[in-house]
Amino acid sequence: MYDVIVIGGGPAGFTAGLYTSRAKLETLIIERAYFGGQMSIANQMENYPGFEGISGSLLADKMLKQAEKFGAKAILDEVVDLDLDSKIKKVITRSGTYEAKSVILCMGASPRKLGLPNEEKLTGSGVSYCATCDGAFFRDREVAVVGGGDTAAEDAIYLSRFCSKVYLIHRRDELRATKTLSDLILSNPKIIPVWNSVVEEIQGEYMVEGIRVRNIKTDDVTDIKLSGLFIAIGYMPNSQLVQGKVELTGDGYIKADENMQTNVPGVFVAGDVREKQLRQVVTAASDGAVAGSSAEQYLSKNKL
Ligand SMILES: Cc1cc2nc3c(=O)[nH]c(=O)nc-3n(C[C@H](O)[C@H](O)[C@H](O)COP(=O)(O)OP(=O)(O)OC[C@H]3O[C@@H](n4cnc5c(N)ncnc54)[C@H](O)[C@@H]3O)c2cc1C
Repeated sequence: MYDVIVIGGGPAGFTAGLYTSRAKLETLIIERAYFGGQMSIANQMENYPGFEGISGSLLADKMLKQAEKFGAKAILDEVVDLDLDSKIKKVITRSGTYEAKSVILCMGASPRKLGLPNEEKLTGSGVSYCATCDGAFFRDREVAVVGGGDTAAEDAIYLSRFCSKVYLIHRRDELRATKTLSDLILSNPKIIPVWNSVVEEIQGEYMVEGIRVRNIKTDDVTDIKLSGLFIAIGYMPNSQLVQGKVELTGDGYIKADENMQTNVPGVFVAGDVREKQLRQVVTAASDGAVAGSSAEQYLSKNKL
C-alpha cells in the first residue's frame, strides 16, 4: 500500500513525487512511455528558471533523480484503469494492481499533429508545437503558424515580435480567434494570412527549409521558404483514463481548485492535463508542488 501514487512521469509527476517523498510519504510514480514526458523531446529549454539553457531530457533526468533521492519509486508501466470511489484507491496497470491512500493525476497532454511524413522527424529541427517554448530560436527568420483559433493567433502575434515574417495558414477564409486577436493579426504588417489553405508537405532533410501549401478552393499549390513551422491546431489532454471518474471540462481537461484537488476526495491533479491557461514545465512543476503538498495535508487531516 502506497501513501501516494503519481500517474505520469513528466515534470508535474516528478515534482509531486519530490514533495510527497520529502514529506516521508511512500510514493510510487508510474510512467507508461519514457521518463520525462513531453520535455524529453525539447532540444533546448531557455525558460526554466535557474537554467539559461538546458536540454529537456537532462532536466527530466535531474528531476527524476531528485525525487528518487528522497525515496520516491519510479516504474515504467501503463495505468489502464482506476477505482477511486473508496478511501483506498486502486490503480490498475498492465502488470498488476496497486493500492494507495491518494492519487495524483499527471498524465499530461499531447499536441495534435498534422500527420505529414516529415513532421515527426523534423520536430525540434524547425517543427514546433509551442511558440512560447521555441519562438526565440527563430529571431529574424521567416516562419509559419498553422491554425485559426486563439492559440494560433496568439502564437502568430508572439512570433511577429522577433521573426521577420510570419505566415498564418488557415483552412478557412477567416479566423476562429476572438475579434480582438483577429484585428491584431490583420493589422500586423509582419503577419501574412494564407487563407483557405492547408500544409501538404514539410520540406527539408535535417532542418525545415520550407512548406508546400494547397489552396483548398482553387487547388493551387505554392512553395514557401521558411525555417520554422509552428503547429497550433490544439492539444489533447491525456484524460481518457479518468473519463466518468473525475470532473472534466468540455474539452477533456481535469477540473481542480487552486489546491489541485479534483471533485473526488484524495484525488489531485497537476500539469498539462489540468484546466489552466499556461502549459509549461515551470507551471507543471508548480502544480506538482501544490498537489504533493495538498495530498500530504489530505492524508494527515484524514488520519490515513
Ligand atoms: C517539443 C516540445 C518542446 C517544449 N519546450 C518547452 C520549453 O522550452 N519550455 C517549457 O516550459 N515547456 C516546453 N514544452 C511544454 C512542456 O514540455 C509541458 O508543458 C510539460 O512537459 C507538461 O508536463 P506534465 O508533467 O504535465 O505532462 P507531460 O510532460 O505530458 O508528462 C505526462 C506523462 O504522463 C504519462 N502518462 C500518460 N498517461 C499515462 C498512463 N495511463 N499511465 C502512465 N503514464 C501515463 C505520459 O507518457 C507522459 O510521460 C515543450 C513541449 C514539447 C512537446
